[in-house]
Amino acid sequence: MTVSVLPPSPSAFAKATWDDVAPYFDELAARPLDRSTIEAWLRAWSTLEELVTEAAARAMITYTIDTSDAEKEADHLRFSTEVLPRMEERSVELARRLVDSGYSAPALKTTLDRFRTQIEIFRDENVAIFAQLEEHCARYQRITGSITVEWDGVERPLPQLQPFLKSPDRAIRERAFRTASRPYIDRRSELSGLFDEMYQLRMRAARNAGFANFRDYIFPAKFRFDYTPADCERFHEAVELAVAPAVERVLEARRERLGLDVLRPWDLAVDPYRGKALRPFATATELVGTAQRVFDRLDPPLGREFQTMIDEGLLDLESRKGKAPGGYCETLHFQGRPFIFMNAVGLVDDVMTLLHEAGHAFHTFAAHEHPLIWQRHPGSEAAELASMSMELLAAPHLVQPTGYFSKEDAQSAWLEHLEDVLLSLIHIAAVDAFQTWIYTSGQGADADARDAEWLRLRARFERGVDWTGLDQERVARWYRQLHIFMYPFYYIEYGIAQIGALQIWRNSLDDPTRAVARYRDALSLGAVRSLPDIYRTAGARLTFEVNAIRELVDLVEREINRVRATLPASPIRPPSSAPRTAEPS
Ligand SMILES: [Zn+2]
Repeated sequence: MTVSVLPPSPSAFAKATWDDVAPYFDELAARPLDRSTIEAWLRAWSTLEELVTEAAARAMITYTIDTSDAEKEADHLRFSTEVLPRMEERSVELARRLVDSGYSAPALKTTLDRFRTQIEIFRDENVAIFAQLEEHCARYQRITGSITVEWDGVERPLPQLQPFLKSPDRAIRERAFRTASRPYIDRRSELSGLFDEMYQLRMRAARNAGFANFRDYIFPAKFRFDYTPADCERFHEAVELAVAPAVERVLEARRERLGLDVLRPWDLAVDPYRGKALRPFATATELVGTAQRVFDRLDPPLGREFQTMIDEGLLDLESRKGKAPGGYCETLHFQGRPFIFMNAVGLVDDVMTLLHEAGHAFHTFAAHEHPLIWQRHPGSEAAELASMSMELLAAPHLVQPTGYFSKEDAQSAWLEHLEDVLLSLIHIAAVDAFQTWIYTSGQGADADARDAEWLRLRARFERGVDWTGLDQERVARWYRQLHIFMYPFYYIEYGIAQIGALQIWRNSLDDPTRAVARYRDALSLGAVRSLPDIYRTAGARLTFEVNAIRELVDLVEREINRVRATLPASPIRPPSSAPRTAEPS
């Protein structure tokens, strides 16, 4: 076969089926390799993956912006279910050629480590198992995606209950909480039956690959080279010892400010500080324009990158009919550009989401300096360090006239963010400890034992809330944590990254300019260095130590107390407020 010339842009693949892409892989698989040709071969393979993944990303973006268009949906599904999975298979084959060639270069060390691991744990018989698991995930999405509840005579999807969970009227909050839990209680046996099957499939895949259980398989599968299951258990202990008591104190202050005898689960979302819902912006143009000023102020090079996103139309932020829910930052690998998608409606949450996604976007800009696609994307532990740090680094610039808030509103938004940081660590530890138990205890196949273990873990980590008589509701929480079903063991990464982000924030209190410079240095490493190296460059340490975590929690708590002292002392009974969640969804 002759050497194929790659198309000049991803648009050539916009309508591609796998049959259009396969010949390029055939050619790369057949091309003779030696010292003199291997680098050109690597570049061609990388460019091919850039072109196809960018075409897929564009199809996904186009679809999520307009989910009502059948053709856009078909394009997206063709990439996600046909083109990309088959490309992944062929990539493992090319990786094998590369590894077998004995080629190495310092800037490819981490890539080769990943390829070797991928090859080692790859089993033909697991391809069908993972395809089956994909179908199970789709079933989970269908079951949970179709949930609606009746509220005041109107059928509503669950997210629309958020404002009622924040109502100043306690009876309305309680009714919203119970109404939101009910669909998961009712579907408990359906969902646990689905999970039983997923558990068996995952354990079988792990054993096929030579591992005792799925936890032991997932560490290499997720390229967790720099920390161990024992480190994760140390993290759980550290959260129990250092974070849980701090959260208990935060909740005690909430209880007092709300003037309640005891905090019930439906008292956690109501805003005890603000008398009104903050409306930090009215239009997407305003959201973007203010963000531009914030980033310019934080760091001119980051400001220029954000300006590029505005100029090149790489933002679609406002909620519109037909858009998919949620938010994301997607990389256009060929162009070397990020794209941010959101559903902003004018709330504080939207500002935080934009800061978070912008952190991912800055990572894309910085990492694109590396020539090969595999050198750019580190694991989620580093990716979320970029995004979570940005939430903290940008915070001092959110005050008017640069930012979104009056001085007092900025304080209460900051306070809420700091409290969320602590509360989310609790949830992260519970979710990770739960999944560890499921796949290692030998009892993970027992639906009742799973629910009982979840209750035990929630009691271990979550204090300060009275759940008496609400076991079913408390159990329902894990059934709606989609990661446990769809992205197993994806959760501790948020905790690791949050601990890193807090260290970067601590550095910024002494020297903000230098903290941001180090942050950018770390982002520019892309995926070519180890996780501890990336953290070190950012000015942080990859750590699971209770003392290190306690120091950071103490710092957050001192800041919470400082800010709280600046706010009105008397309990506020606000009419309503902006929805914020305490946990990464
Ligand atoms: Zn993120």
